[in-house]
Amino acid sequence: MTICILGAGPGGATAALHLARAGHRCLLLDRATFPRDKVCGDALSGKVLSELRRIDEALPAKLAAEPAQLPSWGIDFYAPNGRRLAVPFKPHYNPATDRAAGHISKRIDFDNFLIEEVRRRPEIDFRENTDVAAHEQLPDGRWRLLGPDKQEIATADVLLVANGAQSNFARVVGGHVLEPAHHCAGLRAYYRGVTGLHPDNFIELHFIKEFLPGYLWIFPLPDGQANVGVGMLSEAVAKKKVKLRERLDEILRTHPALKGRFATAERLGPVRGFGLPLGSKRRPLSGPSYLLLGDAGSLIDPFSGEGISHAMVSGRHAADWAARAVAARNFTPEFLKGYDAAVYNRLWQELRLSRAMQCLLGYPWLFNFIANRAANNPTLAETISNMFLDLDLRERLRQPSFYLKLLLGK
Ligand SMILES: Cc1cc2nc3c(=O)[nH]c(=O)nc-3n(C[C@H](O)[C@H](O)[C@H](O)COP(=O)(O)OP(=O)(O)OC[C@H]3O[C@@H](n4cnc5c(N)ncnc54)[C@H](O)[C@@H]3O)c2cc1C
Repeated sequence: MTICILGAGPGGATAALHLARAGHRCLLLDRATFPRDKVCGDALSGKVLSELRRIDEALPAKLAAEPAQLPSWGIDFYAPNGRRLAVPFKPHYNPATDRAAGHISKRIDFDNFLIEEVRRRPEIDFRENTDVAAHEQLPDGRWRLLGPDKQEIATADVLLVANGAQSNFARVVGGHVLEPAHHCAGLRAYYRGVTGLHPDNFIELHFIKEFLPGYLWIFPLPDGQANVGVGMLSEAVAKKKVKLRERLDEILRTHPALKGRFATAERLGPVRGFGLPLGSKRRPLSGPSYLLLGDAGSLIDPFSGEGISHAMVSGRHAADWAARAVAARNFTPEFLKGYDAAVYNRLWQELRLSRAMQCLLGYPWLFNFIANRAANNPTLAETISNMFLDLDLRERLRQPSFYLKLLLGK
């Protein structure tokens, strides 16, 4: 019985590592040779740490000891009126004694950190530099994978499709077509010498009035570098005919709060773009003898753009359901629907809430209002901080009573 994983990013690597831990052999294919770059904001949330812990209890501490990462203690939100709302991931944190709840690490390093774990496992047959150019389903239901010159690479009883946002398989077989209302366009560049970064490496999200519903981020990195980028719903990019590259350049040159901070900064390498398939719509994640993982399954958080941890969550459940299917010798769509249920049981509530928060971007005044209130109200600032850890608190953002209490100053 062959379990084959297409794509060795966080989704595919996590699936392979869970399978290996459970004693299953698998084939892991990627067209790149690692370490490889991936266009991303490079922010690793607390959920990434908890997924690492599920792979191996020792991994979060191992990541924290890597020189190629920075621990991050929170988020600085900049409201459209320019007001800063500092939200620590943990209220009253102490960087000297607490473990950081988030990290920032270039993907060339973080993905390779996972691949180093993969390389240690004899159960995983990892083949880099292997481009899967085509796939076909055999009459017995197995998937046959072909290289660019049509030679057979492998056949799989069950195929775990984790080959990212541009997955041909997800589009053609899984039916995940690009829907501009559920897709974000993103750009990022690396800089050195950006000034005014937070001493505890807070990541910065800027909601600039003239650039809404898009946002700009500045995420500090080791060696005095920073990941700087912009994201905007593809529907808005098309409707407003936004030229993202030009806008990014212009904002960094002219925005009153940013131009000074970039005056002596140096851009390292090109500005690179990539798509973010958002999980704001529930889509099928499986079919006959296959499962879709991570970006190939459109699972990115629509508000924060976070997709690494969601790819890892889906990788963990995909390993579980692939093993179940092998044990039951059942690769039917009906059986594999259990995978969809498992992934959405874990992620759907958050995705739904983030969709609601994404809609907040259409109401800059509400954003300003919350930022103003929180600046003068430590309890509110703490509530917002706790929202990162507590879903029930985040649910309050959907309730009119939350805003009423704010209005009344409670
Ligand atoms: C601009 C931008 C900023 C982002 N910022 C953040 C952030 O700060 N934090 C966060 O959590 N998420 C962020 N994301 C989302 C995050 O990058 C993705 O959700 C995450 O990479 C998904 O992981 P994955 O394993 O599904 O796919 P990927 O990481 O894309 O991995 C897919 C793998 O498949 C391989 N592959 C593709 N096609 C083939 C083929 N035909 N044959 C063989 N191999 C193939 C590729 O080489 C690649 O290694 C951002 C995304 C963008 C575009």
